[in-house]
Amino acid sequence: MSNTFSQHLADEAQTVAMGERLCKYIKNGAVLFLHGDLGAGKTTLSRGIVQGMGHTGKVKSPTYTLVEPYELEDVSIYHFDLYRLGDPEELEYMGIRDYFSPNAICIIEWPQKGAGFIPSPDLNVEMAYDGEQRTVTVSANSERGQTIVMQLGQDG
Ligand code: ADP
Ligand code: MG
Repeated sequence: MSNTFSQHLADEAQTVAMGERLCKYIKNGAVLFLHGDLGAGKTTLSRGIVQGMGHTGKVKSPTYTLVEPYELEDVSIYHFDLYRLGDPEELEYMGIRDYFSPNAICIIEWPQKGAGFIPSPDLNVEMAYDGEQRTVTVSANSERGQTIVMQLGQDG
């Protein structure tokens, strides 16, 4: 059984569509770490997830606020960007643990900046440059993550 799912993303719309596609399988909650260089498409993928879950407004990058919450009808989504986090202890002060309830979706850009203060993910999502385009690789890191990757692989 494969633990990873990979797909080529030819343009921004395909990155958004990939996020929407993930929605089906993470509805009951999941922790996603988003890896990749600046500009690799992490926020774009996050937008696909947030809007795919029914949010109709904008999705801004939480670079300065660290977290952007979306309390939606079916699910709560917390989108983190830890790029500008100085000291990971700040995460304690903001009550980071309260966000990670089992039925919330937590999406974390630059998770390595919060090492030791955030739980391990269900999925590691790697966004990589492929010329002007991108490739996404989704790897399972828990049983829950494994189910999600399996379903992604099956839906063609
Ligand atoms: P990050 O959050 O990783 O820094 P962003 O999501 O802000 O990156 O995306 C940076 C740029 O990449 C945006 O201009 C977006 O339109 C573009 N982009 C996203 N996905 C693709 C893709 N599959 N192909 C080409 N450009 C893309
Ligand atoms: Mg970003």
